[in-house]
Amino acid sequence: MNYKVIVNDSKVKFSACHFLKEHIKCSRLHGHNYYVSVEISDNLDGNYFVVDFMELTKTLKEIVKPLDHYILIPLEAKDFSIKKDGESVEITTPTRRYVFPLSDVCFLPLPATTSELLAKYIHDKLKLIYKNKKILVKVGESKSSIASYEE
Ligand SMILES: [Zn+2]
Repeated sequence: MNYKVIVNDSKVKFSACHFLKEHIKCSRLHGHNYYVSVEISDNLDGNYFVVDFMELTKTLKEIVKPLDHYILIPLEAKDFSIKKDGESVEITTPTRRYVFPLSDVCFLPLPATTSELLAKYIHDKLKLIYKNKKILVKVGESKSSIASYEE
């Protein structure tokens, strides 16, 4: 795995809101403009590519599109009660109760919607496509706050 491609395209982004359990500030509903970048390492293929940049960028945009302009809800949060009722969903946390229109919510199979876990979520989607390659995903909540997952 001597070669690496890096996609750090400012167009690979999504805006979403979320809340974190029992955090002093982040337990309130708030939003971020998330930026996603990816590094993939491997040997070269028959076309002397690690991966095709255009294909990787397109795939990344497709992975983050379902998150864009939604409220991110972690389905595996231990202390959350999530009840769907018709067109709405009620979410009860240890400190809050929210009711959102179902159409505004994106449920994620995660225990929390931290940037670290969002990076792993995106990583795992990429890994389904780029199976034997080493993949690093970075998710930035701002220019100075970036989390990553690599495997
Ligand atoms: Zn946040």
